Amino acid sequence: MKSLSQQAVRMPASGIREIMDLAWKTPGCIHLEVGQPDFPTPAHIAAAGIRAIEEGLTQYTSSRGIPPLREAICRKLREKNGIEASEENLTVCPGAVMALDSSILAVVEPQDEVLLADPGWPNPEMMVELIGATPVHFNLFPERGFLPDTSQIESLVSPRTKAIVLNSPSNPTGAIFPRSLTEEIYRIAQRHDLYIISDEIYEDLVFEGEHFSLARLDRDGRVISVFGVSKSYAMTGWRLGYVFAPKAVSAVITKLQEPFVSCASSISQAAGVAALNGPQEDVIQMREAYRRRRDIAVEVLQRYGLYEYTPGGAFYVMIHVGRLGNDSREIAKRLLAETKVAVAPGSAFGRSLCQYVRVSLANSDDAIREGVERICHFVTSGGNMSTTPSCS
Ligand code: PMP
Repeated sequence: MKSLSQQAVRMPASGIREIMDLAWKTPGCIHLEVGQPDFPTPAHIAAAGIRAIEEGLTQYTSSRGIPPLREAICRKLREKNGIEASEENLTVCPGAVMALDSSILAVVEPQDEVLLADPGWPNPEMMVELIGATPVHFNLFPERGFLPDTSQIESLVSPRTKAIVLNSPSNPTGAIFPRSLTEEIYRIAQRHDLYIISDEIYEDLVFEGEHFSLARLDRDGRVISVFGVSKSYAMTGWRLGYVFAPKAVSAVITKLQEPFVSCASSISQAAGVAALNGPQEDVIQMREAYRRRRDIAVEVLQRYGLYEYTPGGAFYVMIHVGRLGNDSREIAKRLLAETKVAVAPGSAFGRSLCQYVRVSLANSDDAIREGVERICHFVTSGGNMSTTPSCS
C-alpha cells in the first residue's frame, strides 16, 4: 500500500478525547472533562428545528446561509457586538469549528507562521499543522490570571508571521482579555500586518464585566471574528456557527464551504434564527448556573489552599495539581482511576500546563462540589486516596 497523507498522519490528535473515552468506560464517574453545556436546547429553539423539518426546509442552502439567519446575525452583531455587518461579511458554517478552520484556510499558507496561545483550545493548531504552516506559541501566564504578555507576543513575530488566533473568554482557562489588552494586540497586528482570528464562541458566558469584540477596533480589514450558538444556547449537536470577516476574506471563506460541507444544515439554520431572534432568558439562566458553579469550585479550591484565580467567563477552571508531578496526562488518568473524577489534562492544551488539569463546569452543582472536593483531597493528600471517605 502507498503511504497515507503524512500531513494528516502527523496532525496531533486531541488530548481530551483519550480521557473522555476512558471516562465513558468508568461507570459512576463524575464527568468534569466535557466541554459542552449540560442543559437541553431551549424548547422554542428545538421547536423551530422540528417545524423546519415538517415544513420541508430540508435542502441545501446558500453557502453563506439562509437569508433570515444572515439578517438575524447582522442585527445581533450590530446590537450586541457593536459591529456593522452586511451579508457580504458573513458565512454561516456547521459549527464554530468549521468557521475557525475555514478562516485559517482562507489566510494561512504552508510557509506561514501562526501565533497561538499556550494553553489554548487545540483545534486551530490542528488546522495550522494540516496546512503545513508553523504554530508559534505565546503564553497565557497563570500568575497573570492566564493573560498574555504583549511584549512576548511581539517578540515572537517574524517576517513569516501571518496571523494570530485569540480566544476570549478562553477555553481552557475561562480568562477574559480586557479591552486594553485587546487594543494592544490589535496595534501589534497593525504594526506587523497580521490577521487576527478572534474566536468569540463564549461571548455570552461572561460573569463580570462585558465581552469586547475585537472587530470593533478594525480599521483596515484584518480581523476575522468567529461566533456560534453551541455554548450560548446549548446547541453543540446542531452544529451551527458563523464568521464575520472583511468582504474579500469572507468571499474566500464562503467559497471554502463547498468542498468541505457545502453549507450548514438547513434545519439547524432555522433553529439558529429562533435562537438569535427569540427570548434570551435561557442564555441568562444558563450563565447564572455556570457562575454559581464557578463560585462553588472556587470556594472548594480556597478551602484546600489550591486556589489560584477566578475565571471570569466560559465554563472552565484550571486546577494546579503539581504536587502530584509534572505529567498532567498521567495525573488525569490517576484521578479517574482512583477518585472517579474525569478531567481534561493540561497537556491537551499545550506544553505550558503540564501541572494543571481542566475542570468543566458543565455538570450539576453537586457534581462540581463533589468532583472538585475529591480532586483537592487527592492533591493535598499527595495522591493517597485511602483517606478519602467520599470515594468509597
Ligand atoms: N472554539 C472554542 C474555544 C471551543 O471551545 C469550541 C468548542 N469546544 C469551539 C470553538 C467550537 O464550537 P462549535 O461547537 O460551534 O463548533
